[in-house]
Amino acid sequence: MSGYTPMIQQYLKIKAEYQDAFLFFRLGDFYEMFFEDALKASQELEITLTSRDGGSDERIPMCGVPYHAAANYIDLLIEKGYKVAICEQTENPKQAKGVVRREVVQLITPGTKMDGKGLDEKENNFIATISSFADGHFGFAYNDLSTGETRVTILEGSFDDILNELSIIGAKEVVISSGFEPDWQHKMKERGISALSFEEATDESQNFESVLKFLQDRKQRLAVSRLLHYLYRTQKRSLDHLQPVLPYETNSYMKIDYYSKRNLELTETIRSKGRKGSLLWLLDETKTAMGGRLLKQWIERPLINRKEIEKRQTLVEILKNNYFERQDLRERLKDVYDLERLAGRVAFGNVNARDLIQLKKSLQQIPAIREVAASMGHDEIAFLTKKLDPCEEVTDLLESSLVDNPPLSIKEGNIIQDGYNAELDTYRDASRNGKTWIAQLERHEREKTGIKSLKIGYNRVFGYYIEVTRANLHLLEEGLYERKQTLTNAERFVTPELKEKESLILEAEEKSIGLEYDLFLEIREQVKSFIPRLQALAKAISELDVLQCFATVSEERHYVKPVFSDERIIVLNEGRHPVVEKVLQTQEYVPNDCIMDADREILLITGPNMSGKSTYMRQIALTAILAQIGCFVSAAEAVLPIFDKVFTRIGAADDLISGQSTFMVEMLEAKNAIVNATENSLILFDEIGRGTSTYDGMALAQAIIEYIHENIGAKTLFSTHYHELTILADELSRLQNIHVSAVEHNGNVIFLHKIKEGAADKSYGIHVAQLAELPESLINRANTILLQLEQNDSTGWKIESKSETVGDKEEKVQTSRTEKEAAAAAEEAQLSFFANPYDPEKKAPS
Ligand code: ADP
Repeated sequence: MSGYTPMIQQYLKIKAEYQDAFLFFRLGDFYEMFFEDALKASQELEITLTSRDGGSDERIPMCGVPYHAAANYIDLLIEKGYKVAICEQTENPKQAKGVVRREVVQLITPGTKMDGKGLDEKENNFIATISSFADGHFGFAYNDLSTGETRVTILEGSFDDILNELSIIGAKEVVISSGFEPDWQHKMKERGISALSFEEATDESQNFESVLKFLQDRKQRLAVSRLLHYLYRTQKRSLDHLQPVLPYETNSYMKIDYYSKRNLELTETIRSKGRKGSLLWLLDETKTAMGGRLLKQWIERPLINRKEIEKRQTLVEILKNNYFERQDLRERLKDVYDLERLAGRVAFGNVNARDLIQLKKSLQQIPAIREVAASMGHDEIAFLTKKLDPCEEVTDLLESSLVDNPPLSIKEGNIIQDGYNAELDTYRDASRNGKTWIAQLERHEREKTGIKSLKIGYNRVFGYYIEVTRANLHLLEEGLYERKQTLTNAERFVTPELKEKESLILEAEEKSIGLEYDLFLEIREQVKSFIPRLQALAKAISELDVLQCFATVSEERHYVKPVFSDERIIVLNEGRHPVVEKVLQTQEYVPNDCIMDADREILLITGPNMSGKSTYMRQIALTAILAQIGCFVSAAEAVLPIFDKVFTRIGAADDLISGQSTFMVEMLEAKNAIVNATENSLILFDEIGRGTSTYDGMALAQAIIEYIHENIGAKTLFSTHYHELTILADELSRLQNIHVSAVEHNGNVIFLHKIKEGAADKSYGIHVAQLAELPESLINRANTILLQLEQNDSTGWKIESKSETVGDKEEKVQTSRTEKEAAAAAEEAQLSFFANPYDPEKKAPS
């Protein structure tokens, strides 16, 4: 190290403390990176790699970004999962002896972003922490630094419960102690959590009391303290916007495990990983960013407390029935800015005058929002809107202090109104008077010299000057004017009295700009003292926003208010899959009923591929979730139990990514359901057992069904290719067969998407293969094999080739298939071809 220049030595010393981050080292107008950082950053950011002499034999790799453009580069690195340490010059270079002092002022990490591109306004940016305790329990805490929310829970189960929580909140970064089990670290990486950070300290320092104040439990306090230590250590500033921690229990919410959340496409679709096509996408009629984030939180944690659900329902109903008031509310909510994140940035000290104008405009909406809500004339709404605190003091302050259209910069003046501060007014008067005086001087000089084109101008280098064209120079009186600058056609002069006025004006301007800056900081400090009230307002606004969102969707999509039964009964009349119903374009959605009760606990669903089995099953789960988040549901009539847990095993396209075989995933998911489900749970099993050979799969499927029937009693929908299973209805009293109907017409299959009682009579796999346009000779061959198999069949299961009549009055005939659907059918067809009961592998026992 000694061979290096003092500055590089300083760099290396700081870098040693930030091994896992890019060190942005401030040098004049640039942030520079050296050595390894430079090599890596030049690639990641596609910027030029150079080098500099650092005192040693070899030149040091270097690259840099201009400080004013740094934010974009930082965003890029954070998005890629890196951390960035910002190292500033912390003393005035002019006063420095030797190398200027430099210090890291903030460590920006994926889980601690406050603003910028990587921060989706409708999504929280959570950082989580896990502590493992000696008794085997886990402490789990998470925080969104941009909004100041923190929650904590103690989990008594296995590490899988932690993984579930991590996936529910979509944590961007996880803080653990360095002694954390490598196996667990590995599991988190498997789930895509790349940013692991370390923090050892967990003592509850005094500073944390405002955040920890509602926490009694020692473990909870320790878990949160680890997180707080990390936040303070990396952010290195006051975090006054952190709200008191809210403890929670995972069993206060409907349990939806990681797989089910993914399979049901609650917040993103499996294929594209995007919002579009998810339940969240369908529901998102929120008007504010805060409401958007709360909606996602509600979807991820449906309620199980009937009173709480019904409270939401009541509000949704009132809002739904008051159409005009709701439209009015929606209009006004549109103008409410992200108060939650704004409060965070006020605390952080990075709001400008424009942000505060937005705050003012938001607050100005509140009285009107309260009025509209009150005009609906319901106590329940009035109660909610009472929580909408307009924070008049803040509005008054901002209305009287800031101009309406301030510039972005807070260092160039033009922010504060006239009349707000007497001293500022004096400076402004001085500067304005000075300018009037100069205008008069111009007129006076023109008259005196007779030069009509004489003018007084200003530039940064020479200040105020009198400009006279070359042709008129002879008209100037000798000795009065001092020459300052020569242009091609003109000369510029100053006079002593002009200089004197100039310094008065400039001094006044400088003072007023400085004073405006100070005043702005003062105003910002004042706003800071209102942070808790602004946060409470934000919370109330976001609730109102989500409730109006539910009301809007429920009204537009003709949803009905579900009734909850304690008898574990499901009655859905004309139920629809909420998302499929919305995205179907050419076809009409065929509504289906679902009846389940004490005598119908398991529905065994048969029917051809592509007929709508899995759509039907998902529809039941999504309906239950809609009901338990407080929304109305996509049906004409709905009676539902309150489900404690939902489990799904539905084949997903990307099972293979996890590195486990499809069949293993299938079995793991089945186990998860069987071990954890209760009689109050909902289980969806789609084609369980198809990942292995026919007999094997069928045996497992049957054993699973029997197990659920005898030992669990959960409401279960089980779709299968194995028609042999339909005879189970004779033995298991609470199992019923249902099927999705299809008809044959001129050798083509027509899907009716209609659920009917009883077992399906045929698999139609070959017809789907035909639809997918497999070679004709192949199809013919398949038909021949099928015929032979049917003749040899000795399982006792009768294959009937009769088909339902086309033209049945009550049924709608669907034939059209888009190309995409045909392609999907091709995929499916190949699978069904091998997995259907006529599988050539399946030799009839001799
Ligand atoms: P399966 O599980 O039986 O193979 P899916 O549930 O995947 O079939 O349904 C296949 C397609 O049929 C869906 O993508 C959807 O477009 C359409 N579909 C399913 N149910 C309905 C319905 N009730 N009304 C209209 N179209 C439906």
